[in-house]
Amino acid sequence: MNLETGFQRLEKEINRLDSENKYMEIWWRDDDLEAPSHSLENMISVSDNINLTPLLAVVPARASRQLVNLLNQCNINIAMHGLNHYNYEPLTRKKAEFGSFRPIEAQWKDLEKGIGHLEQLFGDLFLKCFVPPWNRINNELTKTLPSFGISSLSTFSSRKAATPVPGLLQVNTHVDVIDWKEKRRFIGAELMADKIAGELQNCRTRLIDTLEPIGLLTHHLIMSIDDWKEFQEVCLVLKKSTSINLTSPINYFG
Ligand SMILES: [Zn+2]
Repeated sequence: MNLETGFQRLEKEINRLDSENKYMEIWWRDDDLEAPSHSLENMISVSDNINLTPLLAVVPARASRQLVNLLNQCNINIAMHGLNHYNYEPLTRKKAEFGSFRPIEAQWKDLEKGIGHLEQLFGDLFLKCFVPPWNRINNELTKTLPSFGISSLSTFSSRKAATPVPGLLQVNTHVDVIDWKEKRRFIGAELMADKIAGELQNCRTRLIDTLEPIGLLTHHLIMSIDDWKEFQEVCLVLKKSTSINLTSPINYFG
């Protein structure tokens, strides 16, 4: 029986990277930001402790002035997380704000509104990155993102191409640390370490798009202070490795 723990598997994968002289980038995105909260403060202090800045996906229609002030103080960049974070798909389909059910013209309107709102509120803190709610976006909208001034897209799981359309860079997340199906809570450090090990193994062994960075995905509103401690513990393991570069989102989306 395999009794290897998540941390052991992670250490083993890191050692493999070292011995094969391979190098991986890992970055971090946090979703569903609307306003300052204790949860956000907990996340920011972990970010300081590990010296890694997340990209904060902000819901434009709900972004508050207090949030702008706080993020300006901390100098943390944001992305656009839909407009209202509404689901417009019928019940029989998977949730999406920018799925294929709603007319594209209505989606363009929302896109334009959200961009204008974030530019006005956040100025240069807003990197022109679009994070569609539920990580779903229809192809037609993707094709037109650059014409609205959006230069990057971030969803979940391995990207099909680094540049899905000219002028648009895609940098995805791969390790979701929330268990959405069962308990809707943090999966724990062991499982997080195990999932990262799995992604490192995928990257080490795959032949195409070997440059795709691995993205961690968090939802600060769901995570407790103890969850963040565990998250930090895993990140500190990654930080010790010279084969892994924990990368700031500005390096991709700036
Ligand atoms: Zn969301």
